[in-house]
Amino acid sequence: MSEPAARPGPRSAALFERARRFTPGGVNSPARTFDGVGGGAPAFIDRASGARIHDVDGNAYVDYVGSFGPMILGHADPAVIEAVQKQAAKGLSFGAPTGLEVELAELICDMVDSIESVRMVNSGTEAAMTAIRLARGHTGRNKILKFAGNYHGHVDALLVNAGSGALTLGIPGSPGVPQSVVDDTLVATYNDLDSVAEAFAAHGDEIAAVMVEPVAGNMNCVPPVEGFLEGLRALCDDHGALLVFDEVMTGFRVHPACAQAHFGVTPDVTALGKIVGGGMPVGAVGASRRVMETLAPTGPVYQAGTLSGHPLGMAAGIATLSQIRGGAVHAAIEPRLDALVSGLEARARRHGVPLTVQRAGAMFGLFFTDASRVTRFDEVAACDGAAFRRFFHAMLDHGVYLAPSPFEAAFISRAHDEEAIEETLNAADAAFAAVA
Ligand code: PLP
Repeated sequence: MSEPAARPGPRSAALFERARRFTPGGVNSPARTFDGVGGGAPAFIDRASGARIHDVDGNAYVDYVGSFGPMILGHADPAVIEAVQKQAAKGLSFGAPTGLEVELAELICDMVDSIESVRMVNSGTEAAMTAIRLARGHTGRNKILKFAGNYHGHVDALLVNAGSGALTLGIPGSPGVPQSVVDDTLVATYNDLDSVAEAFAAHGDEIAAVMVEPVAGNMNCVPPVEGFLEGLRALCDDHGALLVFDEVMTGFRVHPACAQAHFGVTPDVTALGKIVGGGMPVGAVGASRRVMETLAPTGPVYQAGTLSGHPLGMAAGIATLSQIRGGAVHAAIEPRLDALVSGLEARARRHGVPLTVQRAGAMFGLFFTDASRVTRFDEVAACDGAAFRRFFHAMLDHGVYLAPSPFEAAFISRAHDEEAIEETLNAADAAFAAVA
């Protein structure tokens, strides 16, 4: 195979130069920089369709970022685009209720067993923020227990030992978050029930909620070990705390009815984002009616939003979830991900590159390690970061777009057909050769 040109290209580089003058680091979210893979201009995107994104230099990439999760149907899904266009022609935002909000709420409640009532917000961060306020208001307690390497958006109280871009950039806590705001945040070890039991032993009657990503997707892709989620459920029940699943990433991706259905563990509160808005800025918080009615106007816990329940987001969410309901999207993805994972493992072996692939539903992660399984944050951190960087750039040069960090999960969509998988595996052959 001839050596491809290094990507992205001069147009992306020129836009990056301009962007850096007017925006910190040239990006509107740190996870988009290439700082975690050696720096340089990221690909600036012009358009996307199906499994592929196209940059401003005319390069096409098979995309495993999928806007960091939302695009499970693939880019520019015709039904979603049509729904958004139709709604846009009727007006953008009204500041008054619409039937679309009712329809999406009904869909969510129908699809997710633990949710009887839902409040729409504008992002996953807002969903997480609202979830902990709700838990605190409902229990009358202040402490929240979270896990190192889990990420719940840039909520002050949760920006402690955080994953995702904070982890990539080495700032898992942040200046600007006063110590007093995180005094009530406890941090435990993901997949280590003993660390949670210890926190409950010390602070049991002060803990309002345990907040967890049911599959940790912001420290690569780390599924829960057997008994971990069940153990959290039992500890919360024993101590009168709420179990909050942050399903912003896993919701409707790990399973059509969310990770909670896949693992058979029922949380008290669920935070949603990403897929629930079909690529538009939407988040949601859901729980039993009793818990949700703690929120204003039925209850005293205040939460509000000028653009919440935005008609375009609701239209995109309805068009997305109504295709996921019934399971056809996940059924189509599973054999493709099987082929991708076994193909990656075989090619890595052929090149003598130690690789472990972990997956949950329609998300997966690559670990450059000899370990056959990665379950803890310190094991993720011990993987070969330099190998990942070489692999990332070689894949990019060969037309495959991965998240520019070894700490982000990868996302596959219904649009990743056999051709896209084959293209990916051909690129991987060259990329593993570059790593070896
Ligand atoms: N929670 C989880 C599990 C996430 O993965 C993310 C974002 O990646 C968030 C919350 C924050 O969502 P947003 O970026 O939409 O604010």
